[in-house]
Amino acid sequence: MTFHAAVITLYPEMFPGPLGVSLAGRARADGKWSIEAVQLRDFAIDKHRTVDDTPAGGGAGMVLRADVLAACIDHATALHPDCPVIALTPRGKPLTQARVRELAAGPGVILLCGRFEGFDERIFAGRAVEEVSVGDIVLSGGEPAALMLLDACIRLLPGVMGAPSSGAEESFENGLLEYPHYTRPYEWEGRTIPEVLRSGDHARIAAWRQAMSEADTRLRRPDLWERHEGVRVQSASGAQREKKDLDQ
Ligand code: SAH
Repeated sequence: MTFHAAVITLYPEMFPGPLGVSLAGRARADGKWSIEAVQLRDFAIDKHRTVDDTPAGGGAGMVLRADVLAACIDHATALHPDCPVIALTPRGKPLTQARVRELAAGPGVILLCGRFEGFDERIFAGRAVEEVSVGDIVLSGGEPAALMLLDACIRLLPGVMGAPSSGAEESFENGLLEYPHYTRPYEWEGRTIPEVLRSGDHARIAAWRQAMSEADTRLRRPDLWERHEGVRVQSASGAQREKKDLDQ
């Protein structure tokens, strides 16, 4: 099965862009995924091919029209009925590796890239559209966010990454940041590689990596750490409950 990306945009020439080279580019050439950029303007209903209008209530910028968006979404979903429709917006749910993994396991995605001030809000009530943000930053358009989401999905597709294990240990896969990496030369500007990594003792190396992963997460991402600890406490008490049930 080929993962298919339909990207609704005012700038189809931005795709596949960076996804046409390196890992993603090779995977596309091998038929592991495909992409089609859909020009939103083709779904405009007036002779000027208008896709936006001034914001109701006043203010700066322009807003993408719900009727034009709906026509384009309906076209894309008719072609790919099993693909979820995802609008890229800073108002959306922050994208996570868990969601990326789910998407990568599915048939593909229909991505909706905003421009200007964004979307007429009624589109989210009128169509089944998931709102996703790629971070607490404001981009000038949804296209770089769409590229980011696709890149994260593509590398997880079967046969795209070299070693299958390299995905499982990475940042966020177990709710933690990954441990730090080192490579040759052993000494660089007076700094050496941690001795344990040269010990050849795989159990010690694994324990060191786990400890670093936990320490770095606690320090750099207290939000992730709190969630990780929450899950651990929950599953420990779940296990205790189960044990109690067995004892009774
Ligand atoms: N006025 C909006 C920002 C619009 S930016 C606001 O303040 O919320 C224009 C477009 O860029 C958006 O419609 C969206 O498609 C895209 N975009 C900007 N930042 C984004 C982010 N963090 N994640 C996903 N898409 C984003």
